[in-house]
Amino acid sequence: MNLFLSGHVDAGKSTLMGRLLFELGRIDEKTRKTNERASDKLGKGSFSWAWGLDGTTEERERGITMDIALQSMMTPRRQITILDAPGHKDFVPNMISGASQADSALLVVDASTGEFEAGFQRGGQTREHLLLVRSLGVSQVIVAINKLDQVNWSRARFEEICDALRPFLVQSGFHPSKTKFVPVSAYHGINLVSSNGTEADGLREWYKGPTLTDLLDKLEPPTRDILTSLRFPVSNVFRGQGSYLSVSGRICGGIVQVGEKLRVLPGDEIAVVKSIELEDESVPWAMSGANVTLSLTSIDPVNVLVGSVLCPPSDPVPLATVFTARIIVFDIQVPITAGTSFELFHHSRDVPASALKLLSTLDRATGQVIKTSPRYMDFILVQIHADPVPHFSVLTKGTSAEIQIGLRGTHVGSSSNTVVRPIPLETFANNKDMGRILIRRGGETIAAGVLQNQCRKPHVLM
Ligand code: GDP
Repeated sequence: MNLFLSGHVDAGKSTLMGRLLFELGRIDEKTRKTNERASDKLGKGSFSWAWGLDGTTEERERGITMDIALQSMMTPRRQITILDAPGHKDFVPNMISGASQADSALLVVDASTGEFEAGFQRGGQTREHLLLVRSLGVSQVIVAINKLDQVNWSRARFEEICDALRPFLVQSGFHPSKTKFVPVSAYHGINLVSSNGTEADGLREWYKGPTLTDLLDKLEPPTRDILTSLRFPVSNVFRGQGSYLSVSGRICGGIVQVGEKLRVLPGDEIAVVKSIELEDESVPWAMSGANVTLSLTSIDPVNVLVGSVLCPPSDPVPLATVFTARIIVFDIQVPITAGTSFELFHHSRDVPASALKLLSTLDRATGQVIKTSPRYMDFILVQIHADPVPHFSVLTKGTSAEIQIGLRGTHVGSSSNTVVRPIPLETFANNKDMGRILIRRGGETIAAGVLQNQCRKPHVLM
């Protein structure tokens, strides 16, 4: 399973994961001691547990997780890959690429006085993270209510936070039966794997429920579509061993095998898969849902970019510059109108785009069309009768709508000409993973949605 780890900055995500990995035997005592000493030296002793996860020196000095870090762990019944998202607001785009690979989410919230409230207010990242992961198809969420040691293991505080989050989770589309809450102290390692020890006395007085590991163990495993054609959106490109070009990402449909020829889109290039690495092991094949690194040969590195999609030459992913999508508009102040410009995020790619047409508004729950695009006659009627007809030449917060989106051109060289380069996209009906998009404007996510129309296929190379 791919578990997306999210939460407001300083909620304790890294501490929780570092401690959990230690308790589950993934970090040994020696490494932990080294981390503790190094972290003390920097005067950041309280971050020592987080060092299991936060990798680079810059992250350590700043005490924040900047990139998507991949870690894996074994609970008694599940093998879990953790996609650790940066909590810092500047890094939300990185988070999106992590969220688009996730099956379930673990949300860490800080229970200490005032902190939960800060992370949950408008502008705080807790809400945005939840909306994001749900819009990207994640349906199961575990909420770890952390730092309960700071509030004397108060049951009332735990319940207050659950009560505040529950309606919001339902509104965001999480089914109550797939939403679990668990009280923990990451720093003291309480209720992660067990709630033994005298430090946990305060918790045991009122809590008899599952530990975090129990909940992780009971997450429903995802189903993978391995019968469709291979889709491998590239989320990272680097020079691998033996100077082969390496690409990493999550397989979003089908199977990949060593020796296979793959087409790289956009473009006409064909690469050959030299090796496949899964969880630090070399494997002959891998299937949909796996996070893998592929070494490629016979390809010029300039043709493989973050956002490229690898697929079988006989069944390439469609490319598009104009398409329709069903979107849900987030909590925005300035509405979306025809002509609104934004950044379109799809897997690890972001491109300039705009809303070309607003086609219809939809019922959020059923997806039925409520109102089609306002025509000239509607406009006249509104003028004559001054009826409060709910016209929708704008999309405001909370609306669900079908819109037409067009990619905007990028300037080429010093000329004023712009070119619009098509990007690989697939309808949600064909491939759920490839059919999701996010829309951001001015550094804020304003909508999320799924692709509706069937895009044109590029010509087939044999
Ligand atoms: P992140 O930004 O969400 O990854 O947060 P960190 O894991 O870096 O933790 C932020 C701070 O909270 C650090 O100083 C941690 O030591 C502290 N912290 C994390 N978990 C707990 C906890 O359960 N109890 C207490 N008292 N402090 C904690």
